[in-house]
Amino acid sequence: MAVFKLDNVEDLYEIGSVLGSGHFGQVCEVRERATGVLWAGKFLKLKKSAGSRLGLERKNVEKEVEVLQGLQHQNIMALKDVFESRAEVVLIVELIKGGELFDFIAEKENLTETEAIEFMKQILKGVSYMHQKNVAHFDLKPENIMLSDKHAPNPDIKIIDFGMAYRFIQGEEYKSSGGTPQYIAPEIINYEPLGTAADMWSIGVITYILLSGLSPFQGETDEETLRNIVAMKYEFEPHHFSQTSNMAKDFIQKLLVKDQSERMTAEECLIHPWIKPLNRTQIAKRNRSSINMKNFKKFNARRKWKMSFNMVSACNRFSRLQLLCKARGPEQQELRDCESDQEDTSTKPASLLRRRLSSSS
Ligand code: ATP
Repeated sequence: MAVFKLDNVEDLYEIGSVLGSGHFGQVCEVRERATGVLWAGKFLKLKKSAGSRLGLERKNVEKEVEVLQGLQHQNIMALKDVFESRAEVVLIVELIKGGELFDFIAEKENLTETEAIEFMKQILKGVSYMHQKNVAHFDLKPENIMLSDKHAPNPDIKIIDFGMAYRFIQGEEYKSSGGTPQYIAPEIINYEPLGTAADMWSIGVITYILLSGLSPFQGETDEETLRNIVAMKYEFEPHHFSQTSNMAKDFIQKLLVKDQSERMTAEECLIHPWIKPLNRTQIAKRNRSSINMKNFKKFNARRKWKMSFNMVSACNRFSRLQLLCKARGPEQQELRDCESDQEDTSTKPASLLRRRLSSSS
């Protein structure tokens, strides 16, 4: 069992404002007392007992830490330190100040494919690096693609949230049924042995959305979305893809492929002519094509609305839990443990999936 630092994190870091929340805790800005340097602290609540339904199992936290420890890349969030107490593990990670890539893009008036590709390239470089290290992320989606600093002339992409990531061991089969319905590959839904190709499917979905503002498999319910994925039910609606180049559509088509072994790898993506044009004509085509900004802004506004709706639901459940704790006359520690019990059950779809599903589907 990995042992993390047992010091009280607050002795070494001053805890600042909340930057974001996930299923199992919060991410806060933290200041290293010794140096004054700012970091982010990911506070992950642990299960109180083996039978507890809420919180994370320690072995899952260890898995996330081990994966992050093995990854050092400009486009992947860096891990600095790990602390643990009885109730939680705290990951001290690189502070990412630029917010989500999709929010950054949605603020723009327009964006050519060439500009969008600059971001895609960085995502692919990060993903290619982790795949070379035999790591799959398994939860690539807009919420997990952030920017180092949105005011920088060329901001860096930073891939975050390795909570579902897995490092493959040669000769061993790995299956999982977790993920976010809109973005998961058919082999995950079918509970088949997985590889890094599952991430490439998600990149296909992200690219489709980025260019059109439409989600390729989105149904009325999560179940319908999953059915659409398995049935490979998607198309390039001419109305929404009128500004899109054929090279971009070809790129997506080579990712949204049911057979994992036929799907483009990250390395292959990086040399696809849409990403790396072979001649002037291809460069000109990319420059003339643009993303469907009107639709993209609508998609992003809906996405943000759903995220905040889910957040409010989680907060309401948390308040109810606090009231329950108070009724029992809690100590401060008990309150903290109650906090760890916030879990997004009402937003979980009763779907084919057996494990946690992210709330932003
Ligand atoms: P999920 O429930 O989606 O799996 P999680 O509990 O694993 O989430 P993260 O997705 O890692 O948590 O982080 C939650 C949110 O906190 C992110 O959506 C993001 O807004 C913010 N965040 C995470 N890491 C950082 C960071 N290094 N710097 C700044 N903000 C961050």
